[in-house]
Amino acid sequence: MPTDKRGKSEILVQGIAASHGIAYGQAFLYIQSDVEVPAYQVEPDKNSEEIARFEQAILVTRQQIQKIMSEVDKNLGSEEARIFDAHLLVLEDQALISETIREFEASGKNVETCFNKVSQRYIKAFSEIDDEYLRERSGDIRDVAQRVLQNLLGHSSQSLSQLVEKRVVVANDISPSDAAGIDSSQALAIVTDSGSKTSHAVIVARSMKVPAVVGVRDLTRQVQPGDWILVDGYEGVVILNPSQQTLFRYGQIQLQKKGFEQRLMEANRRPAVTLDGVTVTLRANIEKADETALVKEYLAEGVGLFRTEFLYLNAGEIPSEQAQYLAYKEVAEALAPASVVIRTLDLGGDKPMAGHAHLFPREDNPFLGYRAIRFCLDNPAIFKDQLRAILRASAHGEIQLMYPMISGREELARANAVLAECKEELKARKIAFNPKLQVGTMIEIPSAAVTADLLAKDCDFFSIGTNDLIQYLLAVDRVNDRIAHLYEPTHPAVLRMLKFVIDSAHRQKIKVSVCGEMAGDAIYAPLLLGLGADELSMTPPLIPAVKYLVRSMKLSDAQALAEKALALTSAKEILALCDEFSRMRVKLT
Ligand code: PEP
Ligand code: MG
Repeated sequence: MPTDKRGKSEILVQGIAASHGIAYGQAFLYIQSDVEVPAYQVEPDKNSEEIARFEQAILVTRQQIQKIMSEVDKNLGSEEARIFDAHLLVLEDQALISETIREFEASGKNVETCFNKVSQRYIKAFSEIDDEYLRERSGDIRDVAQRVLQNLLGHSSQSLSQLVEKRVVVANDISPSDAAGIDSSQALAIVTDSGSKTSHAVIVARSMKVPAVVGVRDLTRQVQPGDWILVDGYEGVVILNPSQQTLFRYGQIQLQKKGFEQRLMEANRRPAVTLDGVTVTLRANIEKADETALVKEYLAEGVGLFRTEFLYLNAGEIPSEQAQYLAYKEVAEALAPASVVIRTLDLGGDKPMAGHAHLFPREDNPFLGYRAIRFCLDNPAIFKDQLRAILRASAHGEIQLMYPMISGREELARANAVLAECKEELKARKIAFNPKLQVGTMIEIPSAAVTADLLAKDCDFFSIGTNDLIQYLLAVDRVNDRIAHLYEPTHPAVLRMLKFVIDSAHRQKIKVSVCGEMAGDAIYAPLLLGLGADELSMTPPLIPAVKYLVRSMKLSDAQALAEKALALTSAKEILALCDEFSRMRVKLT
């Protein structure tokens, strides 16, 4: 077994790559533990004093969070500071406060005990929600609750402010307030036992541009403060006590990656034209109106997918027509003359709307249930508000509209009939909109794909949602870890279906975009282009790698690749072929 120069054994731990980069340094161990809460009965004549003590702790906590917020705003920027909006909202949650007081009145126990009981209930409820983003919010409640308890008990709060030398932060968990306390000039990398790609530690690590690996389970139990540790934020690997050979190997990798990233960014300034002179359109997927800055930074040609459901999820309520109109208009104006494809609401499935059980009742199979266009057609008032907002915004830029989860021609006709009603309403009210607004269909349900020849006659463009198309075609839940190995984008069934959809569209002379994750993956992008996709749309930071590859290949070679792949019979063989195609063209050194 290899050892480091002090004779300690090298230990390799696989986690989740959360922020790119490689770092090596000594560990700064940070263990966050829950506050011990003493329980006792309060004398009945002290009741009002006890409630006042609770209210005072809430007030002090609010002031502390506001102070952290302004520090983060100063050090990291307003986007990161907004993480703490969620914390302030927890403190403003009347249910949490009044339930604590009710618990106190009923039990007569000290407010720490009552508040702890109520907040634990909230944390549990959030942590069981079937949505990664909302699940992560249980961390916000936990963070705020710990602060309130510390203030009630008169403890000073823990922080990472003792980090005064350059170190790799190794923690069991990092709350947003912990993260805010990190001196960005001293953190070489961040590693956490828990967490996922959307955790706050990750958001902060990315904004500090330091490597991060999360989900390393019990690494904090194996690390001693001062141990030497190597963090590979590309592959999600952490190596404790790395040997000289490992350090040498990573030194080489780091040089290659740096050189490669530089080349990617340089290439990104040039047009996306293949070696045989074909221009490829690379567009952005966005989820919020303020992501237009990212679209411009990565030089995307407009937006190929605006996932509007995040307007609803972030607001925590159904936004009004006016609020949506302003958001869509802002995006269209910021990116004009480039076009913006606005997808109508795709709530449900893995994106339920918390606190709206009357609209989204619990379902046994949410991915096969009340989702996207099904929900919209069943709730015409909500759907029409969105359609009118999109139509009105279309007067201010190059907007296109598309429907998610269309299963066939009749459903598309029903959606279009609602759109026609909205147009009539706006006309009657003399409100401007683009009468030639292009309307597309997402192809992400196998029944739509198989009837693509029919659908192509009724719409202006297709956008293939490979994330869902693969899930439904292969019957593999896209968010279930246990069957993730069965989720195979190169399954021959997927290839045949993509080819049929693309050919059907081209026969009707309409364009096809691919906006699922496959489009932003350098392994699959050539295959999609070879199959005939006209546009690829992806999260903006993935554009440089795909553009680099586009500029290093001939479209005719990609077409030959697709033809060869279509003749193969196994997903693994096709994957190997695609992998080889990309690797031969993009050398990392
Ligand atoms: C898809 O299904 O590929 C897609 C782009 O939509 P979403 O990931 O939002 O379901
Ligand atoms: Mg989808």
